[in-house]
Amino acid sequence: MRKALVTGGSRGIGKAISISLAKTGMFVYVNYTSNAEAAEATVKECKAVGGDAVPIKFNVGSSDEVLSAFEQMDGISVLVNNAGITSDGLAMRLKDSDWERTLSVNLSGAFYCARAAMKGMMKARYGRIINISSVVGEMGNAGQVAYVASKAGLIGLTKSLAKELGSRNITVNAITPGFIQTDMTNELSEDTKSALLAQIPLGRFAEPGEVASACVFLASEEASYITGQVLGVNGGLYM
Ligand code: NAP
Repeated sequence: MRKALVTGGSRGIGKAISISLAKTGMFVYVNYTSNAEAAEATVKECKAVGGDAVPIKFNVGSSDEVLSAFEQMDGISVLVNNAGITSDGLAMRLKDSDWERTLSVNLSGAFYCARAAMKGMMKARYGRIINISSVVGEMGNAGQVAYVASKAGLIGLTKSLAKELGSRNITVNAITPGFIQTDMTNELSEDTKSALLAQIPLGRFAEPGEVASACVFLASEEASYITGQVLGVNGGLYM
């Protein structure tokens, strides 16, 4: 049975990915950092679809916490770097602490987890690393400079790791979701939502499961010759 770690697997897109991977028969480590109840609920749903899962609490932005979490986990062959936060605001007013926190969770977190996971993957000569970036990492977005920099950074991380790890049969890809209905986007005002919808050819936001389907494919054996790619799941918002 293959084992997957989904960071930020307890809510939103990560929850949908955890359940979808469990449905394929994988054992899933459902990572979270504060909301234990949500993580337990996701684990329950993973079991309900015939898979197996456990919650695992750690802050991806802490190198030490990542290292000790990896000591508790075993034989990860699929890593989904999904945990992410936003700290919106115009660059001129953005605080150092907001910049640092966003880069730490979204970008350093993915690096720490990939570095810890690749050892076992190299030994096994098999691995799938999937980084959940964002369409704004490709397009830019006013008022989200830290978030966008972290998401664009994930694309560079993806391509460099794909080059480093390809000879060991480890693929590394990024998914760039557009606007997905989760807690993160629920906070947008109705005006912002309407303005965004007008730019999306498919004319709607996505469900988390639509990102999960792309992730399940990239995590599968069938995606064996795809690496270093950026897969947009954005309703046509960016082409
Ligand atoms: P969400 O609903 O806010 O869920 C975030 C998840 O990340 C939660 O499980 C949370 O766990 C976890 N998390 C936050 N900080 C963490 C940390 N330091 N260490 C470990 N886990 C942490 O977010 P979402 O909308 O599903 O977004 C998931 C990913 O997709 C993010 O990387 C986001 O940037 C990206 N994305 C989202 C959209 C969108 O429209 N929603 C679009 C493009 C990209 P706790 O509950 O314990 O805090």
